[in-house]
Amino acid sequence: MATYRELLQQVKSEIDEVDAAQARVLLEAADAPLFLDVREEDEWNEGQIPGAVHIPRGNLESRVEAAAPDHAQPIVVYCAGGSRSAFAAKTLAELGYENVVSLAGGFTDWKRNGFPTQLPATLDPEKRSRYSRHLLIPEVGVEGQLKLLQSRVLMIGAGGLGSPASLYLAAAGVGRLGIVDDDRVDASNLQRQIAHSTERLGEWKADSAKRTLEALNPDVEVVTYKERITSENVDRILADGWDVILDGADNFPTRYLINDASVFHDIPVVHGSIFRFEGQVTVFKPHEGPCYRCLFPQPPPPELAPSCAEGGVLGVLPGIIGSLQANETLKLCMGIGDTLAGRLLLFDALATEFSEVNLKRDPNCPVCGEHPTITEYIDYVEFCAGRTAHA
Ligand SMILES: [Zn+2]
Repeated sequence: MATYRELLQQVKSEIDEVDAAQARVLLEAADAPLFLDVREEDEWNEGQIPGAVHIPRGNLESRVEAAAPDHAQPIVVYCAGGSRSAFAAKTLAELGYENVVSLAGGFTDWKRNGFPTQLPATLDPEKRSRYSRHLLIPEVGVEGQLKLLQSRVLMIGAGGLGSPASLYLAAAGVGRLGIVDDDRVDASNLQRQIAHSTERLGEWKADSAKRTLEALNPDVEVVTYKERITSENVDRILADGWDVILDGADNFPTRYLINDASVFHDIPVVHGSIFRFEGQVTVFKPHEGPCYRCLFPQPPPPELAPSCAEGGVLGVLPGIIGSLQANETLKLCMGIGDTLAGRLLLFDALATEFSEVNLKRDPNCPVCGEHPTITEYIDYVEFCAGRTAHA
């Protein structure tokens, strides 16, 4: 009786193998061979070689004829590491296939080389219908939609900016939305915070937003944190795994805390702020663009901080700025387009004018610079005691 290792050695001596680089050349060729993935369903769902056909090893003999009726058809068979595909290549030869090679090192080696991969095109009919206007855009398509469904976005605040942003992110099919908000719905919020309603007065904003978003799109899982983000809880909240942070907070302590956390955890922040008729949006992408401290290394001393009186805002302005934040977030989730990293977009609602300012990284930045001096969270004094509202 041979051991598994001996058997594998024996099989490998009987088949032909290519390495990842050779397979890549074959894939790019005009008459590319059939790429046959013999891994299990869950492995396939994590990503595959573009254009590959999936037949799990256990179904190979019964299904391969349908996928490759011509026995002269060149085939590159692959699995995760190159062992199952070696056995599969031998089986294919026994079935009469004449041009079969096994990918040594498998999909693992392929990915390690940075070669292209794709996610499986699996959207059920309901999702195909719901997201049909996304599927019609070549830059999004099934692949982009699947990325959105797998994306996790943390919203800081379910107020003026968080309301429109979260509505559009949920509608777009972002799979997981976290909402951090310790505030309750107040009558003065409803002039702009459209995730809430008159019948929700007094409810937690996080719960109210969750109901609105889940009613809009059951594909979205909403996770609520009915707490104010602080140096004590920020690591715990971020440990739940987020791809993008959408900052809808309107106070300095939170803004600095989120900035430092985003650099420490390497998570991009889509930043928005509003006042009266003016709004600003940018993206802070750690180590690729500036962070908030590159621009403002320290918060102003409390006596110089902006007035603590509630700032007025035109009700539609957070709708515009929050929607722009949603736009940046969707692009980050799908990896398409150019984000606002390194650019501050300014909007004047009274003049209806957009303008833009370039932002530069500061190599001496205290948190993202070459020699950071801030390596743990700092609690800044509350500028406006008792004020917890988000935008
Ligand atoms: Zn910085």
